[in-house]
Amino acid sequence: MIYTIDKIAEVIHGQRVGTAFTHVAFLLTDSRSLGFPEETLFFALKTERNDGHRYIPELYQRGVRSFVVEEAPSDWAESYPEANFLVVDSSFKALQTLARWHRECISVPVVGITGSNGKTVVKEWLFQLLSPQMNITRSPRSYNSQVGVPLSLWLLNEQTQLGVIEAGISQPGEMEALQQMIQPTVGVLTSIGGAHQENFSSLEEKCREKLRLFASSRAIIYCADDELAARLIRETYADRQLVAWSMKSAACPLYINKVEKRASETIIEFVYQGAAGSYTLPLIDDASVQNSIHCIAVALYLQVGVDEICAQMARLEPVAMRLEVKEGQHGCTLINDSYNSDIHSLDIALDFMNRRPDHDGRKRTLILSDIQQTGMDDATLYCKVSDLISTRGVQKFIGIGPHIKAQSALFGVAERFFFDSCEELIRAPEFAQLRNEVILLKGARSFGFDQLTELLVKKVHETILEVNLSALVSNLNYYRSFLHPTTKLVCMIKADGYGAGAVEVAKTLQDHRVDYLAVAVADEGVALRNNGITANIMVMNPEMSSFKTLFDYRLEPEVYSFRLLDALVRAARHHGVAGFPVHVKLDTGMHRLGFHPVADMDELISRLQGQRALIPRSVFSHFAGADSDELDAFSDEQFALFAQGSERLQAAFSHKILRHICNSAGIEHFPERQMDMCRLGLGLYGVSPRDNRVLANVCTLKTTILQMREVPATETVGYGRRGVLGRDSVIAAVPIGYADGLSRKLGNGRSFALVNGKEAPYVGNICMDVAMLDVTGIDCEEGDSVEIFGDHLPVTRLSDVMDTIPYEVLTGISNRVKRVYFQD
Ligand SMILES: *Cc1c(COP(=O)(O)O)cnc(C)c1O
Repeated sequence: MIYTIDKIAEVIHGQRVGTAFTHVAFLLTDSRSLGFPEETLFFALKTERNDGHRYIPELYQRGVRSFVVEEAPSDWAESYPEANFLVVDSSFKALQTLARWHRECISVPVVGITGSNGKTVVKEWLFQLLSPQMNITRSPRSYNSQVGVPLSLWLLNEQTQLGVIEAGISQPGEMEALQQMIQPTVGVLTSIGGAHQENFSSLEEKCREKLRLFASSRAIIYCADDELAARLIRETYADRQLVAWSMKSAACPLYINKVEKRASETIIEFVYQGAAGSYTLPLIDDASVQNSIHCIAVALYLQVGVDEICAQMARLEPVAMRLEVKEGQHGCTLINDSYNSDIHSLDIALDFMNRRPDHDGRKRTLILSDIQQTGMDDATLYCKVSDLISTRGVQKFIGIGPHIKAQSALFGVAERFFFDSCEELIRAPEFAQLRNEVILLKGARSFGFDQLTELLVKKVHETILEVNLSALVSNLNYYRSFLHPTTKLVCMIKADGYGAGAVEVAKTLQDHRVDYLAVAVADEGVALRNNGITANIMVMNPEMSSFKTLFDYRLEPEVYSFRLLDALVRAARHHGVAGFPVHVKLDTGMHRLGFHPVADMDELISRLQGQRALIPRSVFSHFAGADSDELDAFSDEQFALFAQGSERLQAAFSHKILRHICNSAGIEHFPERQMDMCRLGLGLYGVSPRDNRVLANVCTLKTTILQMREVPATETVGYGRRGVLGRDSVIAAVPIGYADGLSRKLGNGRSFALVNGKEAPYVGNICMDVAMLDVTGIDCEEGDSVEIFGDHLPVTRLSDVMDTIPYEVLTGISNRVKRVYFQD
């Protein structure tokens, strides 16, 4: 839908500054995701950490002409002659007001989905099930927040016959705003569980808050077997049509009278208002069964062709929630997004690819299948796709499927190829020629993209470290929440990003605009630069032999001694470098490296002032015990010494020298000591060093069962016959050993791994490349996945048994363990 700027001004009560004629088709809240500048309306949102007004000059330069602001730039007439600014009290409220108005203009039924788990799956499945019968607009991916919902609602248009919108909350009070925007005609409550519990006083409070979504809904769909939810719904919404389903009570409107699990499918029989029906689900886990029942309940309520829906159930595809980054064959990087192929999720994935820097010369390639069930005619659809491809910087395009092929003339990208099927592509010479490219794979499952991915991915060792980039960002935001908006942040990615892999971690951090990245040695910095990282980089342990590299790659060294300082000055002069930033380290009690904050200061100041080659950019020190309350008195002393030393240094220079002392523990423990900058390490990777609490888990070390065997009670397992059994046992061998970083200290029953969620102790000594697990009584088979540590088994469990700290476990995962990255 396209609206004029006047109409929008009227709706959001914006005071218009500027006189140009502009119109709006797209809403933007994150300047990095800009796609179609001329028709975009940018909302300058103020958050705790950021202020969207900062990006107005950049966006104007890139062609954006319409802005919603809380304050118009004072030089609007001179600097932004072609722009319109709509001035409002709150850009955030204006976004929601606009979305609400738009939703009211498009008066179609909307299914509103909330709950703790399963929202996105139910939404996607409803789309898969219903879209053959009607034109559906749904939230892209899991856009379900206070900002995501308005952006989702904006996608409703004249063709839409049914909206399917997800609503997610994390705090009390949030649902009302979502309800007013979405105004769901039909409400669906998926399961209520413990997620985000921390902000609610009880499960009941959380459940009540979620139910507010249904304030204006005519019908509510929920599982009556969840007693809390069922009671609250009956109390609050007695006057609505309650489509409760149950596996226990035949009195419920939708009674599930049989759930029969087979090897790879589930047969579900139901009775709805006296009529019986059944369907087959190609999945067997409980969550999928539940989600499918929510979907059938919606279909039954909406009175769409239920026989078709039941038939359609057999073809349901699991919803891949993650966008994965994997190392591919022949120097390629693969971004695999098997999330449903639709134009909005395509745009999100292209944006992701486009925003990840890369070394020069690697082509950005998109392999895309026909996009099904959009309600648009092919010409319009692929015209849009072609526009997206060019705005998102795709240089090579491979289209797969008869529909896309028929529209090949619409694609203007320089290199383009079209095939009827994945098989045809695999046989074609173009397939073998995929080399040194960043490839986004985005295809409907029915086109067999699985086999394509399998061929393109570098074969991985069965043991992998999965790195959750969304969790990393959530930890980043957690620590940022302790900081003032102006406090800068250094993210430590030394030791290959605490084991997570520095390059991909750096790409994500740069995208989230951290001020500095810090590595241990120059070579780590060079690797980042070679991978397109342009952010400021600090090198904590510069070696005397690496100075030229520092200058060439703009890597800013730490300086901790006169010997190092003099050598750096000499090298800078020798290479004709002037004003190169350095970071001065003071030793306030750690007694590792650094200048003395009192005794060395006069000498340090005079040497720094006596030269032009280097310039102190920051001055810092390091706490020896910010993680421990017992050392508070010592931390106080350190801080006092640092304040003294750093003030003297600052007083000697007229430019601002950034001061910093807090590491992760310091940020949490002494936020009042954040000064100009903080240095975040372990916390970013998901463990709070204060109490070893796991924040959002980032790294999961996984392997698979190679072989299983039954071993009699009298036998032993492993070297030195240390694995004494004492009972007839089932032993599973897994391909991970101490050479991968799995410490021998965990062996002989001292710790365990998780096999299908169950604790399986290590039996006997851990070998170099293999370990043995006791899986007696655990339902598992060869090829099953095993978690060494991660989402369900905190890394701190292992470090406790090993009598060490989580840092050592994480950084000890050897290089031969492949890192696989994903984002939710
Ligand atoms: C590693 C390091 C940090 C980060 O420490 P964490 O405990 O991981 O937060 C901060 N500053 C310096 C100088 C470091 O070497």
